[in-house]
Amino acid sequence: MAPKKVAIVGSGNWGSAIARIVGSTAKENPDTFDQTINMWVFEEMVDGKKLSEVINTTHENIKYLPGKKLPENVVAVTDVAETCKDADILIFVIPHQFVTKVSNDLKGKVKKDAVAISLIKGLSTAKCDGIKLVSSEIKEILEIEVAVLMGANLAPEVANDNYCEATIGIRNQKHGEVLKTLFHTDNFRINVVQDIEAVELCGALKNIVACAAGFSDGLGYGDNTKAAIIRLGMMEIIRFVNQYYPGAHLSTFFESCGLADLVTTCYGGRNRRVCEAYVKSNKSLAEVEKELLNGQSAQGPLTAEEVVELLKKSDSGSSYPLFVAVDRICKGELQPKDLIDCLRNHPEHE
Ligand code: NAD
Ligand code: 13P
Repeated sequence: MAPKKVAIVGSGNWGSAIARIVGSTAKENPDTFDQTINMWVFEEMVDGKKLSEVINTTHENIKYLPGKKLPENVVAVTDVAETCKDADILIFVIPHQFVTKVSNDLKGKVKKDAVAISLIKGLSTAKCDGIKLVSSEIKEILEIEVAVLMGANLAPEVANDNYCEATIGIRNQKHGEVLKTLFHTDNFRINVVQDIEAVELCGALKNIVACAAGFSDGLGYGDNTKAAIIRLGMMEIIRFVNQYYPGAHLSTFFESCGLADLVTTCYGGRNRRVCEAYVKSNKSLAEVEKELLNGQSAQGPLTAEEVVELLKKSDSGSSYPLFVAVDRICKGELQPKDLIDCLRNHPEHE
């Protein structure tokens, strides 16, 4: 069989770190993967130069992952349809607010038997009556199979080749094996499970919990409080998955996508950092995000809003005090210091 062509849709902080991994695994597996990997770059000027041209000449994404070389077989392309033309495997790794537009730009332009894998942590922003996962939206628009990859994977640490794990959610075992070959390395260890929805929701929802951890850090509450936030957040994540996609295995929440990602994000993530700074400054969340992240995106506040909208429809907000409190604090309806009052009578204490 011809080697599979891989394309990366996105080139931010995580997109660039993952490009380092798949660029090298493709080189190590020339019978399985085509040697050139296209990476879509949302073009912008950096220091007076086009980012795509900088990447293709210096092999470094100087804006989103400075100081780390990308493999030379990763090629920056600025047209998303051109990036994905003829690709057998599409890696989606963009902030979730851009998924609808980018997927529509690709509609009818990808191979019918291509497999996508979403590394995106968030819910679909498309209007719908109930819940829509990012993977479901991509699947609906492109009419192809979509797997997910989530885990405790702060991009700068992955780019340093520090040991960590990740979880792939996919039901087709054969495709799961190919995807494992593409992502699994000595320092990026992959487990494959079938609970796709639970894996994806763990990745999306932990960003809300990380915001609560950031508020707590900003208020100086220490590690016991943060541990309580992590535990209550975990319980709300499990409850949410059981409410919307009943039947997930409890073990899935103990994969890297679950507990491990909660811990790493609540200690080292951007959502935590932005929310801590919000508490300590008199600035808006948007201002703090702009100042701290230089174009990167913290997805927790938007995800909290989406989740709470959904919970309102089923009148179940009272079962999720942490998610609701984060949304209200992000919108300025509550003060960060009100967080603890919201958690004091948590249903987990009944
Ligand atoms: P990022 O936060 O670095 O976001 C910036 C990216 O968005 C840039 O590539 C920028 O060009 C692009 N962008 C800006 N405007 C755009 C537009 N209008 N249309 C399309 N793209 C636009 O991105 P990231 O860190 O690669 O995150 C992508 C996804 O991966 C997110 O869902 C995130 O939660 C998830 N993730 C991130 C990390 C991490 O540590 N960074 C780790 C695991 C998962
Ligand atoms: P942040 O977006 O909060 O940095 O989290 C990154 C992540 O998902 C680590 O697994």
